[in-house]
Amino acid sequence: MEILKTPAAMAAFSQARRARGERLALVPTMGYLHAGHLALMAEALRHADTLIVSVFVNPIQFNNADDLRHYPRDEEGDLAKCQAAGAAAVYLPEVEAMYTPGFCTGVNVARLSEPLCGRTRPGHFAGVTTVVAKLFNAVGPQVAVFGQKDYQQLAIIKRMVRDLDYDIEIIGHPTLRDSDGLALSSRNARLTQEARTRALALPEALLAAQAAFKAGEHRTAELLRIAREVLDGGAPESVDYIELLDAERLGPFGETLNRPAVLAAAATFGGVRLIDNRLLSGNGFN
Ligand code: AMP
Repeated sequence: MEILKTPAAMAAFSQARRARGERLALVPTMGYLHAGHLALMAEALRHADTLIVSVFVNPIQFNNADDLRHYPRDEEGDLAKCQAAGAAAVYLPEVEAMYTPGFCTGVNVARLSEPLCGRTRPGHFAGVTTVVAKLFNAVGPQVAVFGQKDYQQLAIIKRMVRDLDYDIEIIGHPTLRDSDGLALSSRNARLTQEARTRALALPEALLAAQAAFKAGEHRTAELLRIAREVLDGGAPESVDYIELLDAERLGPFGETLNRPAVLAAAATFGGVRLIDNRLLSGNGFN
């Protein structure tokens, strides 16, 4: 497995592999890899010959310096996991190699970047789309795999690929969860046992609303009330949002759901901000 540290080295590797006729898949990550990331890698290898994983804690997508400082890291462990997953290369650039002095260019996907995490983490998605565009440019994959856990991010990347004419197939992969329902996240490592127990209210809130929906409840306010009640039971320090939006356009609903919806929430437990989502579809309008 090759470890590549600069955009030029990454591009040269990819070019050589493409020249051999290989189909390349990219899985972008911020490291501290868990089973969710590994599932993305396995999915990538179902669609391509050659797996490239990027591990880069992207400073420009953090709107909070403390969050960036405390983001968990384990380079050695990550490399071992990528190797075991069958990666041909890991792209591991230093911050200075990605953002050279004077860097001032950005990619911004308007509209889809506005609600949810876009409202509560200003600048976050511009940081994401800028770095993903740079990763796409350096790697030149035919396929890239992203998790549905970051639902809004996936929608934004799909839009960016269409709008900027990248010839890359974007594949969304379902969220992997612990047996108790908590979505796997590198950030879970920072939860105390006590906070982790309370944090189960987040997936449970989404499931409660999804169950009510399946039982025929389509009133937006009532679905949100049900979810909010369960979420509040976990005593989060703060709830950035809990919202029901159109699953494709991420726009708001009126009084009742009439199209597939995503119920998305972000809440902080024990100082750790967690996000999760569930799709509400079926019942005649999927
Ligand atoms: P991150 O390292 O958190 O930036 O995540 C890298 C990729 O892994 C993103 O596409 C995430 O959506 C995806 N991912 C993170 N957690 C999970 C999970 N629990 N299940 C599936 N995919 C995930």
